[in-house]
Amino acid sequence: FKVPAVENEPMRSYAVGSAERKGLEAALAQMQQELPFEVPCIVNGLPIRTGNLAKQPIPSDHARHLCTYHEADESTVASAIDGALAAKAEWEAMPWNDRAAIFLRAAELVSGKYRYKLIAATMLGQGKNAWQAEIDAAAELSDFFRFGVKYVEELYAQQPPKNSAGAWNRVEYRALEGFVLAVSPFNFTAIGGNLPGVPAIVGNTVVWKPSPAATYSNYLVYQILAEAGVPAGVIQFVPGPPPEVVAQAISHPNFAALHFTGSTFIFKKLWKDIAANLDKYKGYPRIVGETGGKNFHVIHKSADVRNAVLQTIRGGFEYQGQKCSALSRLYVSSSLWSSGFKDMFLSEVAKIKVGSPSDFSNFMGPVIGRPAYDKIMGFIQKAKDAGGEVLIGGTGDDSKGYFIQPTIILTKDPESITMKEEIFGPVITVMVFCSEMWPNRLTTFQVYVYDDANYEKTLELIDNTSPYALTGSIFAADRKALLTATNKLRNAAGNVYYNEKCTGAVVGQQPFGGARASGTNDKAGSISIFYRFVSARSMKENF
Ligand code: GLU
Repeated sequence: FKVPAVENEPMRSYAVGSAERKGLEAALAQMQQELPFEVPCIVNGLPIRTGNLAKQPIPSDHARHLCTYHEADESTVASAIDGALAAKAEWEAMPWNDRAAIFLRAAELVSGKYRYKLIAATMLGQGKNAWQAEIDAAAELSDFFRFGVKYVEELYAQQPPKNSAGAWNRVEYRALEGFVLAVSPFNFTAIGGNLPGVPAIVGNTVVWKPSPAATYSNYLVYQILAEAGVPAGVIQFVPGPPPEVVAQAISHPNFAALHFTGSTFIFKKLWKDIAANLDKYKGYPRIVGETGGKNFHVIHKSADVRNAVLQTIRGGFEYQGQKCSALSRLYVSSSLWSSGFKDMFLSEVAKIKVGSPSDFSNFMGPVIGRPAYDKIMGFIQKAKDAGGEVLIGGTGDDSKGYFIQPTIILTKDPESITMKEEIFGPVITVMVFCSEMWPNRLTTFQVYVYDDANYEKTLELIDNTSPYALTGSIFAADRKALLTATNKLRNAAGNVYYNEKCTGAVVGQQPFGGARASGTNDKAGSISIFYRFVSARSMKENF
């Protein structure tokens, strides 16, 4: 059999008066009426109510919370691991076409029956506006499942090109021996589905710890997978205190892999903890992580100003800068800056509306929570203390929700701390509980104006001032300038864009991920990531 051709999920516009707009508004209204929801852990397909209750807040509205969830305790995590190990043989032995069909069905449920509900949960719980939630919880999530199935078909077809006489050489792509731990972030519901989904499609069983700040949307994703036919025990849903749940899972002798998206700080810590446990394990665990970024736009003097300005605003401020790919440092040609870039930039940013995502006219919503709010406001202060000039924004309002105005800071020092460093330190202890609070993600970015004569020097600065290498964009009409940057920035980003913002990689189109401190660069949304969750067996059979 052959998996049918797959396409990217078409995006809906939610234009005023459209049926889709009405559908989404109705789903939002219903959710607002029914909340708060109760979310249990799910182990072997059964709800477990531990009674250790925690709340997922609504970051745009302090007065309410989206759900109360049961945090996994030690015995719940232990049964989740045992159950995952027990479910493995049958799941892996299931004919591939059945596993494929389950994930294709899950994609249909995401794009159809559950679309508005998932979007509404992402808007309320994670503070995305309707468009950002559509990109994430509807389009990218169904793309991950559909393209995932297609990639695995391609992977299984990878066979040695030659047979010797009277023999058959073949390769079998086994699931890993043990269970996989998936630790997902708050900022993409789609990543919530993808982190357990990728290992499961190739026959692994997974213990999944979602981000506390995305519990409800991720619970819906779990329910969709179960409704699609993922058998009990294959994906175990264990929301809970991240340090405890994760520590227990990685100290288990059958721990086989970590599939992680979150902060660099936590990822490094987990890597070290896994190393310290190495002698306990049967094998060498696979460690796959997508972490921080300090992403850049560089605007050459030949760039189209209007495009560069608008793309910069989208790259920096969409979803309040809380994408790991978000723009956080901008390098602009001095001649462009003074001949229109600055004015257009500030006047466009001044038009941005910040407020509750339930009002569809708001371009920006709240940041995810109290630690993030304090961190960002503190960071703006730090930038000012270091001599940065706030050109616009710089203020926040946490009276009803965690709202921060889009902020642009001009700096004369391209190596100032805020141009290069991941922001952690004392605050990280507060954030450890919500380990995916993205300590280096900001709704603000710094601008450095460079002298046109120093284009190449500026490229060197971009390469050298940050430990990260996730995304970056080069804006130029002059192809030579693009080429120079491409070469000079060879290792500075895993995803490079030309004349377009540095966010918004599309599954099946731009494999996503970065190297250096940004992660293991295993490329979500591509075939590469699936290789990390299989262990190949080479077989030569003589006839
Ligand atoms: N893939 C997303 C993008 O290209 C970012 C994912 C993330 O924040 O981890 O914008």
